[in-house]
Order: sequence, then C-alpha cells, then structure tokens
Amino acid sequence: MQQDLRSMNLEEMAALLAEAGQPAFRAKQLFGWIHQKQVAHMEQMHNLGKPLLSYLEQHCHITVMELERKQVSRDGTEKFLFRLADGNDIECVLMRYRGDLSKQRNTLCISSQVGCAMGCTFCATGQGGFVRNLTVGEIVSQVYEVNRHLQAEGDELPVGNVVFMGMGEPLLNLDHVLQAIGLLNHPQGQQIGIRRITVSTCGIVPKLQELAQQKLDLVLAVSLHAPNNEQRSSVMPVNRQYPLEQLMAACRKYQAINRNRISFEYALIAGFNDQPVHVQQLKQLLQGMDCHLNIIPVNPVANTAQFSRPDKKQVSAFVKALQKAGLKASVREEKGTDIDGACGQLRGKVLKQQQSV
Ligand code: SAH
Ligand code: SF4
Repeated sequence: MQQDLRSMNLEEMAALLAEAGQPAFRAKQLFGWIHQKQVAHMEQMHNLGKPLLSYLEQHCHITVMELERKQVSRDGTEKFLFRLADGNDIECVLMRYRGDLSKQRNTLCISSQVGCAMGCTFCATGQGGFVRNLTVGEIVSQVYEVNRHLQAEGDELPVGNVVFMGMGEPLLNLDHVLQAIGLLNHPQGQQIGIRRITVSTCGIVPKLQELAQQKLDLVLAVSLHAPNNEQRSSVMPVNRQYPLEQLMAACRKYQAINRNRISFEYALIAGFNDQPVHVQQLKQLLQGMDCHLNIIPVNPVANTAQFSRPDKKQVSAFVKALQKAGLKASVREEKGTDIDGACGQLRGKVLKQQQSV
C-alpha cells in the first residue's frame, strides 16, 4: 500500500527515510515540503535528490483532492466542494474577516467525515447518513488546498483559524482529527495556533473524556440545541445514548482539566427552543460554568421544513433574555446562507443532481 505523505508526521517520515537508507536530515526537509510549503506534486520537492524522489514516487503519494465546485455568497463567504480520490465529496467553508489589520483572518470550516452517523434532524449532513472517516491527509488537505487557492488569488493571508464544523462528528474520528491538529499546529508546518482551532461535537461523552485527557488548549464547542432531554432527544438522537446529565458532567470535568471557556452552540428554532422556560433551563444547566452560548438562527435545510427560522427580533430578544439571566450569549454572525452555507447542504445538492442525471 502506498503511504500518503500528507497523513505522516515527522517521526513517521523519519522512519520512512531510514527505510529508504536516507540521512535523517531529509525528514525535516520532506516535512517542510509537505506540511509547510504544502506542495501537491512530488516533483516540486527539488532539493531532495533524485534517488529519494524516485523512492517516494514508488512508495508514496500525496492526497488528491479536486475542486469540484466553488460558490461565493453575497457576503463573501466561499464554499468549496472537493472530490476525494474514491469519488466521495466533502465540503469546507472559507470566511475572510477583514477590517482592522490586527483582526484580519481567514477562517476555514472543515469536515472530519464523509457524511455523519448521528442523524440530527435539522442537519443536512445527518440526513444523508455516514459514509466513512476522513484520513489525516484528507483533513489537512482541506486547509492546504484552500491555501493554494488563496495564494493563486493574491490573498497573502493563509488560513489562520480552523473550525471542525463542516461535515461529520470529529470525536468519532478522534485519532485522525488529533493527528491532523498536530500537523496543522506543528512548528515546522503551518503553525496554526492551538487556540485558533475549534472542535465542535454533538456530545459523545466517552470521547469527550478522552479529549480532555489530551490537555490540548483548543477551543471546545458543544452542540446543545435544547436544554432538556425530551426536546434534545427529539432532534438529536445522540442524546438518548448520552443524556444531558452525562454530557454536562463531562463538560464540567473537561473544564476542570482544561480550564478554557466552552462554547455551546444553540440553533434557535422558532416555537421550539426559544421560550422563556428554555432560558430558565439553560440557566440551570450552565450554572457556574465558564461558557458562552452561540445562538444560531436555524438554517432551513431540505426535508426539514418543520424547523422555522426565527426573525431578527425574536433572536435578539432571546439573547437579551439569556444575558439578563446572567449567561454569556451572542448571535453567531451568519454567513453564506444564500450559498447553502449550512452544514452539509452543498454536498446534498450535488448528490441529488447526480442521482437525477
Ligand atoms: N458534528 C459536530 C460538528 C459539525 S456540525 C456537531 O454537531 O457539533 C457544526 C454545527 O452546525 C453544529 O453545531 C450543528 O449542530 C450545526 N448545524 C447543523 N445543521 C444546522 C442547521 N440546519 N442550522 C443551524 N446549525 C446547524
Ligand atoms: Fe452530525 Fe453534527 Fe450534523 Fe448532528 S449536527 S448530524 S452530529 S454533523
């Protein structure tokens, strides 16, 4: 089996080169080409010498990911649909924040799986089911390929923030996600600061405990969406396996170990989870925790017409009520709704088009 260079860390490259009878310093060179310069073709690595290059060409490959489609939203958000080597599609969303020089950044929302097994009823990815986990190389390649795109466009800022909020449940592909984070964060790679990496989960309790033990300084986001078991289970099947008591206990334990503020995602659905009683339940649930509630007006998704999106007034009234109850809360700036910016929507559309051909 050919090894994917983009999936390999420095130690694995060192072992590979030892096997090839190459001097140890070549591992750093190779790592720099793959994870810092982010080349997509082996012949670009011109200082490795012919014997090594031909060895690599025989034994290795570099993740192939073709840009299948790109859509640009009116607000500038860009959505990339990539085709993987096995024909599966994944998507990521680029948000370019401008304004003050110090605040400029390019944030990329990336996928961890093809599809998702968790079946949340409001989520397009969840409706499509699970296909497979992404490899480490496929996870980092989303960043590398978008960087190439930025460079080609003359944008001098590479991706500086990464959020695992695209397709899939990152904690169900935890090993690969952690290895990918290690590469993105690596001092000889792209050096994306660990505080600039967010992992979002629907609440897989044992995996959350495992992540806590890693003692990583990353930003943890937990998809809450409802503050009581009955309602949460009705939209998030995972809640039947790991109900709120267990999830919140795991979050508190996570915070006792890692100390950082936890973000809770709350998709606001008109008439479902936006009532005064929900404010009180949230207050109880989150009491004493250092956390922030991100309120996201639910994105309407095909087959989920039952979820109505609250208007601006309703959203800000709910946020105000939360703040009055002593919680930190804000509306997550919405991006790209006109280009199916919500989770899993673009892939869903392309699949449908393919099926109807
Ligand atoms: N599986 C992980 C990460 C990917 S989903 C998780 O669930 O956290 C990223 C975020 O988008 C989650 O908070 C998810 O609940 C939210 N989301 C999915 N579909 C949505 C929709 N239709 N409207 C608003 N948010 C949605
Ligand atoms: Fe999966 Fe997250 Fe979508 Fe739920 S919201 S189906 S966990 S991707």
